[in-house]
Amino acid sequence: MRHITTHDAPATGLRAIGDTTWHTRGVCHGMDPEDADAVFFPLPRDYEAIAEAKELCGLCPVRRDCLNFALENVLKEGIWGGLTEAERRPWHDGLPQRLDYDRVIAFFNGRDVHLTESERQVVIDHAYVRGWRADRLAGALQISHKHARDLLRQAANKVFDRDRNLGVPRRKNKKEKQAASASSPDAKPSIPRPAKSTSATAPLGKAA
Ligand code: SF4
Repeated sequence: MRHITTHDAPATGLRAIGDTTWHTRGVCHGMDPEDADAVFFPLPRDYEAIAEAKELCGLCPVRRDCLNFALENVLKEGIWGGLTEAERRPWHDGLPQRLDYDRVIAFFNGRDVHLTESERQVVIDHAYVRGWRADRLAGALQISHKHARDLLRQAANKVFDRDRNLGVPRRKNKKEKQAASASSPDAKPSIPRPAKSTSATAPLGKAA
């Protein structure tokens, strides 16, 4: 990338938060800053500069990283990853809904990935289904224990609502089972037992 050119650390496969190692592999790496500004931050109708920038980006091996970097850091101006501001706008708007399972898997493998809202939700649902404790989720998402507990509770409610809407029978508790068997037409009517006579067992002198 054109602005950060201060290190040559080896590149990683998937970019994590704050990872700028891909910059050095960009086609625009090392360009004169003034030239880079003119090419990658053109006026909206400077079609010549836009075409030049797109041509360079088209040859760039880190175009996807460049685009992700711009999206995650809300860089709405200039050309990034070969897309102009206007072309990138829907991507910026739709970023919270973006769901990339490669990134989710990388997260589970311990990578410090900048997850979108949808990707975080996948992690929370997975945590609930796998029976994670709130502490573990809190550590993974770097949130408070209380927040993690609330998220797990919401995930549980979501599953409950889904099952109810799909007609999956819910397990009845003891009281509900008793009530259901009492109201069932097959249930045998309970025959009232005669009250025990107290006179037979009552000690003498106490019988009525
Ligand atoms: S995609 Fe374009 S702007 Fe991004 S690093 Fe490559 S050449 Fe530079």
